[in-house]
Amino acid sequence: STLKFKDLIPVLYQEGRFQGDPVTLGVGGFGRVQLMTTVNHGKYYAMKRVSKKQIVVKRQEEHMLFEKKILKAIQCDFIVLYAAFKDTRYIYMVMEFCGGGEIWTKLKEGRFDEHVVVFCTACVVEAYAYLHKKNIMYRDLKPENLMLDMKGYVKLVDFGFAKELIRGEKTYSFVGTPEYMAPEIIKNQGHDFAVDFWSLGILIFELLVGPPFSSSEPQKIYSKILDGELKFPPYLSEAAKSIISKLCPRPGQRLGNTKNGIKDVRHHWYSSMNWHKLRMCQLDAPTIRLIRKGPCYINFDKFPQDHTLAEEEFSGWDRDF
Ligand code: ATP
Ligand code: MG
Repeated sequence: STLKFKDLIPVLYQEGRFQGDPVTLGVGGFGRVQLMTTVNHGKYYAMKRVSKKQIVVKRQEEHMLFEKKILKAIQCDFIVLYAAFKDTRYIYMVMEFCGGGEIWTKLKEGRFDEHVVVFCTACVVEAYAYLHKKNIMYRDLKPENLMLDMKGYVKLVDFGFAKELIRGEKTYSFVGTPEYMAPEIIKNQGHDFAVDFWSLGILIFELLVGPPFSSSEPQKIYSKILDGELKFPPYLSEAAKSIISKLCPRPGQRLGNTKNGIKDVRHHWYSSMNWHKLRMCQLDAPTIRLIRKGPCYINFDKFPQDHTLAEEEFSGWDRDF
């Protein structure tokens, strides 16, 4: 890409308590995400800044390098695009700005209608089709990792748990977010691409109803998942119940993971979806009414500025960044 680090300038809050301070879109486990723009073409970017020292302290070097490798190799409208920069203190990951905010925030205001969920999860199916074709499992599907762009299209962010896997092989790492983990991960039986279809079923359930397996204690979540009983409320349509049930049985029978692959998913609940138009971003997104109009940061919480400066880090783990 032609984007240069030195051309990026922070966007400032235009009013309120933080007027004049740089806009922070989110604060995560490793750093903060700032809203940036350029003088020339005025496009917006979300820039994740992570302390190199913190990465070393928390032993996340391999993770960061892999996340960067994956995101660099990706060209898909349903996954955030990305460029990487660094200096002596930080790694910077510059992404396209998803101005609509997080799905998770919108969900807190209530359940979504079925047609909204069809649209949102169809975007996820597109992202999955792309990733799985490249033999990458995503492994961290949840509303917190789905962002809306200004057109209301859903994009996957956060590739911290993604992994490349040879077809036919299994991996044994214990990863994911408890509520969304497939039984075979919990039982440590080895897992593969099928775990992404399980989590798709859980996502559909959560967006329509609320989380199916929840507790404040992970152990209790795991036993609920292993019991495997999904309680469908009466307002769910037969079609919705059917797709969730078919995405959430044992791995070998999971829709998307049998011989027809992801095609089966596309033809099931999504029978009225025009996949071609979706891919071309030519459909009117029903999510558009969830997006507030105003200053470009209006769909995000506001955060105070961070005046601290991370320590410099010279061990060289980020050579390839
Ligand atoms: P954690 O690992 O704790 O989830 P993190 O350090 O990986 O956090 P992210 O989850 O990637 O950080 O980002 C933190 C927040 O920044 C997100 O929840 C979201 O609100 C915002 N954000 C991230 N990427 C974008 C983007 N491309 N456009 C707009 N906002 C974004
Ligand atoms: Mg995150």
